[in-house]
Amino acid sequence: MTTFSDLGLIEPLLRALTAEGYSVPTPIQQQAIPMLLEGRDMLGIAQTGTGKTAAFALPILQRMAANRIKAAPRCPRALILTPTRELAVQIGEGFATYGKHLGFKRAVIYGGVGQGAQVSAMNAGVDILVATPGRLLDLMNQRHVNLQHVEFLVLDEADRMLDMGFIRDVKVIVSKIVAARQTLLFSATMPEAVMSLAKGILKNYERIEVTPQSTTVERIEQRVMFVARDDKRRLLSELLKDKAVTRALVFTRTKHAANRVAEHLIKSGVSADAIHGNKSQNARQRSLNDFKAGKARVLVATDIAARGIDVDGISHVINFELPADPESYVHRIGRTARAGAVGVAIAFCDADEVGDLRAIERTTRQTITVDTTHAFHAAHIATRSERDSPRSRNGRPAGKPSGGNRPPQGNRNSRGGRGGSGGGGRPWENRSRAT
Ligand code: AMP
Repeated sequence: MTTFSDLGLIEPLLRALTAEGYSVPTPIQQQAIPMLLEGRDMLGIAQTGTGKTAAFALPILQRMAANRIKAAPRCPRALILTPTRELAVQIGEGFATYGKHLGFKRAVIYGGVGQGAQVSAMNAGVDILVATPGRLLDLMNQRHVNLQHVEFLVLDEADRMLDMGFIRDVKVIVSKIVAARQTLLFSATMPEAVMSLAKGILKNYERIEVTPQSTTVERIEQRVMFVARDDKRRLLSELLKDKAVTRALVFTRTKHAANRVAEHLIKSGVSADAIHGNKSQNARQRSLNDFKAGKARVLVATDIAARGIDVDGISHVINFELPADPESYVHRIGRTARAGAVGVAIAFCDADEVGDLRAIERTTRQTITVDTTHAFHAAHIATRSERDSPRSRNGRPAGKPSGGNRPPQGNRNSRGGRGGSGGGGRPWENRSRAT
């Protein structure tokens, strides 16, 4: 079995990894670290949850340690661009954790908060800068940040940065980086626009593609509950009576819905909070901390706010509203079953969402088990879904999960089931990741 020391990492990094309890490198770490230590550029097709932060942070830290330069005010040596504030904070924490014996100076900058503390951090001297594009450009224009000495550039979640409209900002930022540099670009998907961005900035790069560890996916028990829209809140309350729901992340499509669901839960005596883009950065961080600390049992979130949330021990992901985009469903349910735990993902599907459910099933190449064992089961929606769903083709009619009243554990994969060898049957593989 490959270990971190086999990958050529230096002792101060190995010590930090041991303290974190990491013993085995994840697939992306095994592939990326040796090549990045050699100074190669890299295109990484991977999403959060694969261990990609350590895959880029460890080699960058090691290469910086091999060539120490005193941290200069405003002039970072490494720049990591990432779409959201939460991801920026998490990546900053990753560098702090892995680099704790190396003594580099870090700064994390993002919008939505005052710039004073960020400007002070830049002035105090910085080796590693993690930033969201908008605020970075703002501070660059005010001459608080100078990118002339950047040696390591990471574009994280490039597809999401494009979706969020950051492409122009990213290009301006990259154009200011003049020093010889090692460049890494990560993206969960590879649409044409990301590919052309990658080609424009990577030199003689190595391409690495990993899927989320299938063991994680296989540990997620997915179910769908057909329910009328007006019954969803009562169904949620019913589910939360179950003590097995220890820490639940509930997804809505809109900020408004997130607030309403959280308010409903609080009124019914459940400790809950909402996190979305309308909240100040400090309020979002406070909500996340409360959720991590177990002060709130339920966190209601929109997709953007939840992206990259890395909280261990989420027992249930509840899709209160299904996402229009199947990729978001994959991201959402990946928040549970972390770190070896078992997780449950429950989707509420109302009459208007049957099409969304079908799109998810097509993309993930699996049929989600129908759970009828609740008081709000809407048989007419189930019947509608059954009419044109692969469920009937598979001989497993909707509304009749095999194995009696309780739905079976684990996913039913229409192509080979769980644990199938090779991986052709794994839902996350062979997805439409155009190259
Ligand atoms: P990331 O994909 O970087 O967001 O990482 C996902 C989660 O996996 C984070 O909680 C990391 O702390 C954790 N992690 C990363 N690498 C390892 C490893 N080799 N062993 C155990 N946990 C890891």
